[in-house]
Amino acid sequence: MQRIVAKFGGSSVADAGQFRKVAGIMAADRRRRIMVVSAPGKRQAGEVKITDLLYRCHEMAARSASIDEPFAQIADRFNGIAAALGIRSALPELLRSLRRDFELVASRDYMASRGEYLCARLMAEYLGGEFVDPADHIVLLADGIVDPASYADLGARLAEGEKIFVMAGFYGRDLQGNIVTFSRGGSDISGAIAARAAGAILYENWTDTSGILMADPRIVDHPATIEEISYREVREMSYMGAGVFHDEAILPVREANIPVAIRNTNRPEQPGTRIVPRLSAETLASTEIAGISGRTDMNMITIEKSLMNREPGFAHRLLGIFRRHNIGVDHCPSSIDSISVIVEEGQLRGMDEPVLEDIRRELQPDSVSVEKDLALIAVVGEGMARTVGIAARIFTALAGAGVNVRIINQGASEINTIVGVAAGDYRRAVRALYQAFSPGQGLSDRRGGKEKAVPDAVPGPPD
Ligand code: ASP
Repeated sequence: MQRIVAKFGGSSVADAGQFRKVAGIMAADRRRRIMVVSAPGKRQAGEVKITDLLYRCHEMAARSASIDEPFAQIADRFNGIAAALGIRSALPELLRSLRRDFELVASRDYMASRGEYLCARLMAEYLGGEFVDPADHIVLLADGIVDPASYADLGARLAEGEKIFVMAGFYGRDLQGNIVTFSRGGSDISGAIAARAAGAILYENWTDTSGILMADPRIVDHPATIEEISYREVREMSYMGAGVFHDEAILPVREANIPVAIRNTNRPEQPGTRIVPRLSAETLASTEIAGISGRTDMNMITIEKSLMNREPGFAHRLLGIFRRHNIGVDHCPSSIDSISVIVEEGQLRGMDEPVLEDIRRELQPDSVSVEKDLALIAVVGEGMARTVGIAARIFTALAGAGVNVRIINQGASEINTIVGVAAGDYRRAVRALYQAFSPGQGLSDRRGGKEKAVPDAVPGPPD
């Protein structure tokens, strides 16, 4: 039987009303046999997600403070859902044993994973489904890489049966058997792993926006929805800040060519965004770009040294320093006598001085400087390689908005053009770019109508 894996994010399981919507969505298509759930997210702005409460518990327990307050909030949220849905569950006992674990200061990952665990247990009871604990099947090797053997193991567990399988998202176990979580928003990855393991025909990712928007709605008023986007494009968009889908979630499905649909639990009638291995000829013929995303948390270290080009291995040694300090490098634009390294601010935090010191000592540069308030914006689109004039439009738009472009980076794949601007110019630049490429400005069939694009909530990190 053809099967669909449906993953529901935190907003989709935030309360009993959302649980009911999820049940409706599952019942609407019999091919939806496997579901993956996040921990309950915010019911309204200002509320704290269950996962954040769990991190708070860990932090308080670690310094021997009482966890009464955050734990009571967690228990209330779950008890409230169970009571409203009339689920007579094992919840009270689960909460009691969790509380005991927490007081013994369980690991941070273990504690964080319990939101998904409890939610999946509850959902399985509610739907009469079968609970699947990912720690029994998904093994994460160093750096969070999934052990390839996990797919066969999980696949065997998800072998077809009468019941719906309900798997908890966000975690697996390491080789020693300890619970380990993915990075934040990682239930998207769990869903993708389940889709690949089960040989699903489709991976649905249910959230609270009707797909991936062409630009950040906190910056651009009602941006259009992207109707179809490729694996490569979505990875660029997600990594560069589009919050709807985790940037690593595409990897498991990509290997098996499984398409993904980003759908809205609150508006299931809307088609959302399709993420496909290759864009259709129609999309390619009718669109210029997929979207615009960006991030303001970037730092740039610039090294100048005359005759740098004559020193073999200069860049290699420079990157080696970052590697030694365990700092991932995003971009590395260069000129003949200078080279810059662009990294996420979070990666560099607190390490500036040791890194700079190593650079000075090992490379003897004429100067080295760090620029903190840098934003990067990516204009993403497979079609860019074939379309004349995209770059001209980008720079004309930025110039027209009075934005000074500090960096230009276009990879050989020409799937995106990245511009670096001062963080203070970021919003203006994104608006100008959207304006230049928005529906009506050029070829626009790839995007849904504007009216479809109104998000229910301001998207933050993926839920
Ligand atoms: N609950 C986790 C988080 O808040 C994982 C997820 O929702 O995907 O990051």
